[in-house]
Amino acid sequence: MTEYVFAPRERPSVPVAGTDRRFPVRRVYCVGRNYAEHAREMGGDPAREPPFFFSKPADALVAGGGEAPFPPATNDVHHEVELVVALGKGGADIAVDQALAHVYGYAVGIDLTRRDLQAAAKKAGRPWETAKGFDASAPIGAIAPASRVGHPAKAAIRLKVNGAVRQSSDISRMIWSVAETLSHLSGLFRLEAGDLVFTGTPEGVGPVRRGDALEAGVEGIGEVKLRIV
Ligand code: MN
Repeated sequence: MTEYVFAPRERPSVPVAGTDRRFPVRRVYCVGRNYAEHAREMGGDPAREPPFFFSKPADALVAGGGEAPFPPATNDVHHEVELVVALGKGGADIAVDQALAHVYGYAVGIDLTRRDLQAAAKKAGRPWETAKGFDASAPIGAIAPASRVGHPAKAAIRLKVNGAVRQSSDISRMIWSVAETLSHLSGLFRLEAGDLVFTGTPEGVGPVRRGDALEAGVEGIGEVKLRIV
């Protein structure tokens, strides 16, 4: 048995809906600009150029929702509701028509973003880590196994702040489908069981403040509730 110089932290994991078992997380990948209207609201061009990716540390997950602290070094934290894909099987160079066979299930996530730091990074041509990968930046609800919910291609996705709808769209409006996203991503990284993929957010992103109550959901998949503290 490996002898560590101090006790390693427990592996991040996410509850699986309908069971007491948990999904062990390896990596958290995220897709940028995957809904045309969100690409436009961010000043981008929604042309169907290949998807681009960034990642968050696995220990930035807030599994099951609950509370997330308003992060330091920012005055502008935005909510981004996203469908999250949980992989049950790994692979590289996965063909589009094989991709969904690698999916264990789906969840609802919120890609919390320090928008002011992201804007500064974009302007300076610098990486997005400080904008995207901060502590507690990835709230996620329970994972619904595909064996129960299938592989939905069309489902309402929405996010409310203090009861008011801020984001409302449908996952069918993603520029790159789940299968296409996994195929692209697996050409860049070897994917493994335990990987999560945040698939991008629709339009309507906006600021959150301390005390705000967020409710995010994808029809037929689940939800996640979060309070900013
Ligand atoms: Mn996002």
